[in-house]
Amino acid sequence: MKKIDLRSDTVTQPSDDMRAVIAAAPVGDDVYGEDPTVNKLQTYAAELLRKEAALYCPSGTQSNLVGLLAHCERGDEYIVGNAAHTYLYEGGGAAVLGSIQPQTLDLNADASMDLDKVRRLIKPKDVHYARTKLIALENTHNGRCMPIDHPSAVRALADEYDLSMHLDGARLFNAVVKQGANVKDLVQHFDTVSICLSKGLGAPMGSLLVGRADLIEKATRWRKVVGGGMRQVGMMAAAGLYALKNNISRLADDHANAQALAEGLRAIEGVSVDMAMVETNMVYVTVTKEHRTRLEPLAAAEGIVLPAGTTMRLVTHMDVSAADIGRVISLFQK
Ligand SMILES: *Cc1c(COP(=O)(O)O)cnc(C)c1O
Repeated sequence: MKKIDLRSDTVTQPSDDMRAVIAAAPVGDDVYGEDPTVNKLQTYAAELLRKEAALYCPSGTQSNLVGLLAHCERGDEYIVGNAAHTYLYEGGGAAVLGSIQPQTLDLNADASMDLDKVRRLIKPKDVHYARTKLIALENTHNGRCMPIDHPSAVRALADEYDLSMHLDGARLFNAVVKQGANVKDLVQHFDTVSICLSKGLGAPMGSLLVGRADLIEKATRWRKVVGGGMRQVGMMAAAGLYALKNNISRLADDHANAQALAEGLRAIEGVSVDMAMVETNMVYVTVTKEHRTRLEPLAAAEGIVLPAGTTMRLVTHMDVSAADIGRVISLFQK
């Protein structure tokens, strides 16, 4: 029986084709800038996003961190959503390792920021305050796509106060596919963008920080400082390049599967689905405590892996087929 793991889109197995390009990748020492496959991936990503440069990092946590470190110095501040990954799920790295103060605010459900709120949070230039330096956004956020015109509105405000902009685009390509947008248009207003190759795109590891050449140069130094200078890592970069070339448009399948899952589950009595959240590959489903307890052994028997809790985030990905969605719906029906 095939295992179905809905905890995250990070659980995918590399395909045979991806394993073949990994095995065949020419490599060199990337700390010397001599890994031809890493260089190819970085150039490809920079061109794809129409940015000056890109930097391959082992994880999205690190590409966000070195991005923030490139923008901000000790005593600077970044404005960020209080449920944003960079603030909430990265161990407080910006503050812990960079002495960068986070100024948080509630995000709107569609991942946008209330710009009046942001304006009030920007500190005056005065010795009493941290120096507001950067606004960090996230797309997608909890599976929701940022409205296409939001970044340009943020940019106008940022320019007024001489702030820079970073995008945590771990799942940016889900928004690209969902909104039928060109990736360069979604990122044009950002100075730096972090994208994950290891989520829906299906690579075993890796993220890219893409953006202005001067910032990427600083980030390269910080990547070494935090231990992210890797050597013959072209083998993994090859998987990332394969993912960018082959696995973007198929994200539409994950979105269709999430939609089918949401519709199947909401029809079941006692199961509630937050339909407003179903835009890309995530479905938030709530069951009673009693049902959750009963679900546990049934799921285990079916080889279906669910996250803990009575409100579960179910994530579709390339190792979950349309037929698998049927199996998950039957599980909840039982
Ligand atoms: C997954 C994720 C990251 C980075 O995660 P890593 O596990 O460190 O690669 C960053 N931001 C968001 C929104 C994410 O979902």
